[in-house]
Amino acid sequence: MSTTSPREVRGGCLCGVVRFLVTMPTLFCGHCHCSMCRRNHGAAFVTWLAVPSSQVSVESGSDVLTRYQSSEHGSRSFCSRCGSSLFCVSSLYPEIIDIPLANMDGPIDRLPASHLYFDDRASWTIVGDDLPCLGGPSGLEPTK
Ligand SMILES: [Zn+2]
Ligand SMILES: [Zn+2]
Repeated sequence: MSTTSPREVRGGCLCGVVRFLVTMPTLFCGHCHCSMCRRNHGAAFVTWLAVPSSQVSVESGSDVLTRYQSSEHGSRSFCSRCGSSLFCVSSLYPEIIDIPLANMDGPIDRLPASHLYFDDRASWTIVGDDLPCLGGPSGLEPTK
């Protein structure tokens, strides 16, 4: 990471049609091991950043963003041209958007701080860092 924290970082989908600008500061960054993230992204876990929705502007491709209601409270938006999963929002926290760190063009203002829903992780996932591993029903409670 650079020593100076960026003020704005752009991001986008694989095909480049969907482009967005995120204004710092973000609220949080962490690795989610829940089974929905795993299936939605085809990955062992998804590294999310959370940011107030007022600090996100979609600069292009909003017409190809498709929203999928993935749970009672959650919806996930993806690029209908290339399939990249982009935005996750919850009706419980409507003022916050989760964005995959991997879809950003470069480093943001913080590094991942913890593992979430760690007790839901894939059995073949091995984590070698020293970050806190949280779990339980909320995905945010300390685990042993
Ligand atoms: Zn795309
Ligand atoms: Zn998740």
